[in-house]
Amino acid sequence: MRHPLFPSKHISTNDNFYRAIKCTQCGKQFRDTSLANFHAEKSGHDQFEESTEEIKQLTEEEKRQRIEELRARLADKRAAREEEEKAASKANEALRRKSGKDAGKIREELQAKELAKEAERKKRGALASSLCLFLSAP
Ligand SMILES: [Zn+2]
Repeated sequence: MRHPLFPSKHISTNDNFYRAIKCTQCGKQFRDTSLANFHAEKSGHDQFEESTEEIKQLTEEEKRQRIEELRARLADKRAAREEEEKAASKANEALRRKSGKDAGKIREELQAKELAKEAERKKRGALASSLCLFLSAP
């Protein structure tokens, strides 16, 4: 599978060496299109060029290992994020339960805030209309 953004040819000078694919957005180099694709998916980068350096080609086995390493790292990250989300939702739940108790108090506070906002709006409106009068005065 070849990414359409990638150069179509890799000029080999030797069977075991070929030019790397370089991400021009972050400078990372990739030994093959699947790694570059993986990077593109992960980072959203989509500017690639053929590097001028030649890199020793990995064996299929090495390639597979590398991709698996990357996948594992990504899975770790995902697991960590899920843990965080779980913790966050627990905290939210606790907050919700607590706020249920003080719901009356919170409602009062909100009302007071609304009233203050309303007063502020009125003040600003008055200011704006007097400014309009001032500006339209001959
Ligand atoms: Zn990149």
